Amino acid sequence: MNTTCPECDADIQIPSNAMENELIACPDCGVELEIISLDPLEVDLAPEVEEDWGE
Ligand SMILES: [Zn+2]
Repeated sequence: MNTTCPECDADIQIPSNAMENELIACPDCGVELEIISLDPLEVDLAPEVEEDWGE
């Protein structure tokens, strides 16, 4: 499976055993991407996870 990085337009290969909600890193720009859906294949920038619990 192939898709395109929404950040830098690089071709990204998705492992065939990838699952929805899995995070992958763009090999080109290193941005974290989340697999939103597998059929059709759709990825989006992963939400930034910061260790801020708001306390
Ligand atoms: Zn990229």
